[in-house]
Amino acid sequence: MPAVEIHNDYHKVFEGLLQRIRRYDQTADISLLRKAFEYSYNAHGDQLRISGKPYFEHPLEVVKILTGLKMDWETIAGGILHDVVEDTKISIEDIKREFGKNIAQLVDGVTKISELKLLGSEDQQAENFRKMLLSMVKDIRVILIKFADRLHNMRTIEFLPEEKRKRIALETRDVYAPLAHRLGLARIKSELEDLSLKNLEPEIYKDLVNRIQSTKRERENSIRRLTSPIRKTLADANVRARFEGRAKDYYSIYNKINKRGIPFEEIHDLLAIRIIVETLEDCYHALGIVHSLFNPLHERFKDYIATPKSNGYQSIHTTVMGPEGKKFEIQIRTEQMHRTAEEGIAAHWKYKEGKSREDDFDKHLVWLRQVLDFDDQEPDKSSFMEHLKINLFQDEVFVFTPKGDLHRLPLHSTTVDFAFNVHTDVGLHCLAAKVNGRIVPLSYELKNGDTVEIITSTSQRPNEDWLKFVNSSKARSKIKKWLRDSKFDSSVALGEEMLAKALFKFSIKLKTIDLVDLAQKMKQKDDKDLLASIGRGDIKIDTILRRILPEDKKEQSEKNVFSRIIDKARKSSHGVRVAGIDNIMITFGKCCNPVPGEPITGIVTRGRGIVLHTNNCRNLLKLMQDPDRIVEVSWDVDKNYRFLAGLHILSERKNNLLPNLSDTINRADCIIKSIKMTAEDSLITCTLSIEVYDLDHLKRVMNSIHKIDGVISVKRFND
Ligand code: MN
Repeated sequence: MPAVEIHNDYHKVFEGLLQRIRRYDQTADISLLRKAFEYSYNAHGDQLRISGKPYFEHPLEVVKILTGLKMDWETIAGGILHDVVEDTKISIEDIKREFGKNIAQLVDGVTKISELKLLGSEDQQAENFRKMLLSMVKDIRVILIKFADRLHNMRTIEFLPEEKRKRIALETRDVYAPLAHRLGLARIKSELEDLSLKNLEPEIYKDLVNRIQSTKRERENSIRRLTSPIRKTLADANVRARFEGRAKDYYSIYNKINKRGIPFEEIHDLLAIRIIVETLEDCYHALGIVHSLFNPLHERFKDYIATPKSNGYQSIHTTVMGPEGKKFEIQIRTEQMHRTAEEGIAAHWKYKEGKSREDDFDKHLVWLRQVLDFDDQEPDKSSFMEHLKINLFQDEVFVFTPKGDLHRLPLHSTTVDFAFNVHTDVGLHCLAAKVNGRIVPLSYELKNGDTVEIITSTSQRPNEDWLKFVNSSKARSKIKKWLRDSKFDSSVALGEEMLAKALFKFSIKLKTIDLVDLAQKMKQKDDKDLLASIGRGDIKIDTILRRILPEDKKEQSEKNVFSRIIDKARKSSHGVRVAGIDNIMITFGKCCNPVPGEPITGIVTRGRGIVLHTNNCRNLLKLMQDPDRIVEVSWDVDKNYRFLAGLHILSERKNNLLPNLSDTINRADCIIKSIKMTAEDSLITCTLSIEVYDLDHLKRVMNSIHKIDGVISVKRFND
């Protein structure tokens, strides 16, 4: 590239910036930076922005924002070069060759994020968001350059056509500002929000600016009356402090007026001050002084120094009743806390051998990784978006274990959220909860400072209802996963049994079959998926058999035994619905022969598919000890289908008992399937199996039998 002489003004700006960088980053490669500035200047050449100004001013402004955040020299180089690949003929390989791998990666990351459409269909949005987060995990500096880029674009957005302006403002408000907030970049976040508001709601914004401007003097006087006694007392106590009026934050004022209906005059942010001191001890000292001079409103006191917010924010917040009965919010913090509060993740950047101190980033990166891990388990993209939104916008509630350990949860969390936060196993088995010593429902919404104790039981399991009240994404995804897995496991067990039984008819053992190979042929992920599909009925047994049986057995398969077995399985599943599973083999427990209307439970068995038992069957208790085998079932009766019921009848010896019995049963519209009578002395015992429509029908016929001359008792057949 031919060298172009750099405009004198720019040259001065460069040197000024380089000076500044050299001061806070001693590792800076100044000659490489100078080269990057010149390279970018040459590459953008005589390109103009829509405003008519030279394009090069944009990367230059981006770099100014980045040096304001005291970003390391590589980030600065990435910042000056960030639009070179996107907007000029220079390729990423050129950048790599000229400036090395690290800087090329930064430029590449920013270029890729710019290509993503972050608003759009949920699916597309989720996927693009995920890509952006992935690039952040790789190198968080990419997003810091992107923030600076977006901030300068928002500052100069007025030159764009309205539609484009609105779209960019919306994306900024819904994606970049919340992300900046989550990473603790408060100053950038609030400027992004204000600029979004200015473009999305220009009238409201103008009105707000006017109102704040017109009440400025009055407000400053109020603040002075509050701060002068505090200043004086602090000085007397030798606590060095500086005061700061809270920066104007139009968007948060707008939100309070519009979303929470608070009148403009009552908004505390307008009367907020910060006291910035030197040490941690000074914070509490200053707090004591403030509280001794003005009455605090206790419900609004928050100590984020003792329990920092998850984005690392630390400060003491207190609201006091000031002069003239006006409320003031006061924030007290150290300089270091102040910098973290304003710059978040950028404040953690330390310059030690040119590298960041990894541990300082951990809490942000942990959050990012959690978001991305979640996506790995969750095939549903829209719930990833929901999860991300919860994580970005969440407010928090702080609660304690009985031992005093602190847990931080999203606002509106319940005891179940807490249980999952303690440990997945605690969540999966939580039976009941005590809050501050009292038993509460599992859906109880936690409040700040609650002490929560979870009572677990090994037999307790999550159920669908929990999803209606849990609020943390962790609890939600763990419950969903459990529900999915438990259904999956029982389908696998069932599929295995069905297949084994089917093969047994041909004297083939299941273990001689290569299930992995079979799964591949059937386009299933693996053997377990194959068995689950069989269990669910998605793949028919005879389809499988046609694949694996030798030729001579196929004929037999299709015509005889299996069609009969399948028919039987289908027939016996008639009338019962099993939660979430279709087309599975169902049989009725021979011990209790349930009939429609009776409460029933399904048990996954070896050999007989799902076997149904009445809930008061005495065998059921034993079977339920293996909770993995229990499946939820409910009656779904076809009017024409009859169920088998067994009866024990005890009668005096009467000659006409048998004709009476058969007549009664016929008239009750029942069908006798079998009958066995034994006489002993003067008593007759009769064991009878009949077909009925449902429980009511059975009860009616039992009553009629009871009325037959000589009958002493009629009981359900149980074993
Ligand atoms: Mn740019």
